[in-house]
Amino acid sequence: MKYILVLLVVWVGYHLWRKGRMADTGPSKSAQRSPAKPLAMVACAHCGTHLPSTDALQVGGVFYCSAEHRERHVD
Ligand SMILES: [Zn+2]
Repeated sequence: MKYILVLLVVWVGYHLWRKGRMADTGPSKSAQRSPAKPLAMVACAHCGTHLPSTDALQVGGVFYCSAEHRERHVD
């Protein structure tokens, strides 16, 4: 009887471990771990400063480094 209990604990532990490993490599996790895109650098249309597109202000396909330059830039 003792051995059956030990086997049961080992069996449950093994399956929990397998479940954990499978969850690690599951599609939901690998989707989260998708490689980050290389940061696109854009130039401010007013002063020409290069900055990541995520930090830039985009107005009609034109990038600006700040709201001030967006307002100042007239063409
Ligand atoms: Zn600027």
